[in-house]
Amino acid sequence: MAPADTIVCVDCGGRCTRVPFDAPELGWHAGDLVTYRCADCADMWYLEVDEEDVADEAGAGDLPSA
Ligand SMILES: [Zn+2]
Repeated sequence: MAPADTIVCVDCGGRCTRVPFDAPELGWHAGDLVTYRCADCADMWYLEVDEEDVADEAGAGDLPSA
């Protein structure tokens, strides 16, 4: 699962859109910094992509191959 397209602004409750909206050409990776800008108050928010965000795209299956 990729990072959310939008988040809720912590300050005003408005909608923050990911900037840039399009996913990176090489896809998301844990540790990437994702930028969001609030449509209402124009505040910028920065979220770091974690392992769970990109786990689904690894495509290695649901269970570890022990
Ligand atoms: Zn806001």
